[in-house]
Formats: sequence, C-alpha cells, structure tokens
Amino acid sequence: MKTLEPLPYAYTALEPYIDEQTMKIHHDKHHQAYFDKFVKAVEGSPLENKDIKDILKNMSSVPEVIRTIVRNFGGGHYHHSFFWTVLKKDVPFSGEVAKAIEGKWGSFEKFKEEFNAKALGVFGSGWTWLVVNHHGTGQGHGGSLEIMNTPNQDSPLSEGKTPVLCLDLWEHAYYLKYQNRRPEYVENFWKIINWKQVNSYYLEAKK
Ligand code: MN
Repeated sequence: MKTLEPLPYAYTALEPYIDEQTMKIHHDKHHQAYFDKFVKAVEGSPLENKDIKDILKNMSSVPEVIRTIVRNFGGGHYHHSFFWTVLKKDVPFSGEVAKAIEGKWGSFEKFKEEFNAKALGVFGSGWTWLVVNHHGTGQGHGGSLEIMNTPNQDSPLSEGKTPVLCLDLWEHAYYLKYQNRRPEYVENFWKIINWKQVNSYYLEAKK
C-alpha cells in the first residue's frame, strides 16, 4: 500500500503567512486526494512503479484512457510535493539562482514584479512557476530561467521545462486566511521561499 509522504515540517511552520488550518487541509485533504486518485489510476498498469516526474515528462506514453486522470491527479500530487519543499521562512535570497535571476531580470524587484503579475493573472485555478526552459539545449542540459503559468494541474514538465519554484494559486491554497485577497497571499509568499532549496533545484536543472 502506497502512502503519501507527510508534510516535511510542522503545519504551523509557515505561520503567520500560511496558517496551520490551511496547511492541514491542503496537505491532508487536497494533496491526499490527488495522491489517492493517482495511485488508483495507475494501479496494475506499467506506470505503477514509474517515477511520477518521468510520467509527467512523457505524457504521450501514458495510455489514453487514463491520460486525463494522470495529468490532473498525478500532476496534482507531484506539484504539491514540490511546492512543500520550496517553502520555508527566513531563508535569504542567495546562491547561483539569485545571480541568474538578477542577470536575467536586472534586479530581484523586477523579477518579483513579473512573477506577481503572472500570479495575479491566473484565471481560475492554476500555478505560477519559475522554470528552466531547456528549449534547444536538450532536456536536462542547461537552458534559461523563465516565469510561466499553467492551468489546473498541467505540469511544466510536460512542456520540457524543469520547475525550480512555484506558487499554488488554487483558492484552496489561501482562501481560509485570505478569502478574495489573492494579492496579499502572493505578497506574503516572498517571505516564505526556501531559496536554498530553489538554488539546488536550479543547479540540478542546469546540469
Ligand atoms: Mn493546492
């Protein structure tokens, strides 16, 4: 029986920016449901023991009859697992990823401005991402940073891009505390980014 990994820190760890109750419901109910539905969908199929990242990178190899379920629930499972790891309070903006961001956007402030604009522009449910786009370099070999949105649980992995940071913009991610105040949620996100982890993802993506 497969079980969902617990949240990698206490439910209160991101207080006051993301509250305990939101984290509990988000991980134990929403993420759990994505996980359960994904596990059930691939049970007994050749995908059962494949790495979720590899599955999302090769959606065309997923049998058509379960492709939508895998996109929605496999994507939902992977994106939440990833999201938890990029959140932590009081980690300074630093490392190679900081240099690359400043190189590409000119300054942290300009980068933040574009990311916020993208995040506020998500209509309905979706995610905003900082990714390495490997286009023209062959997947997993270099590439440059870009900010992008995906609707629902569609994955940047399925477009040949490697996530290094993301923000969940489904209402379930913030509604209990922020209700309709998405800008406040997005602003507070900048106080809980685990730049150390983001830097590792960036270095890994650039290999
Ligand atoms: Mn979510």
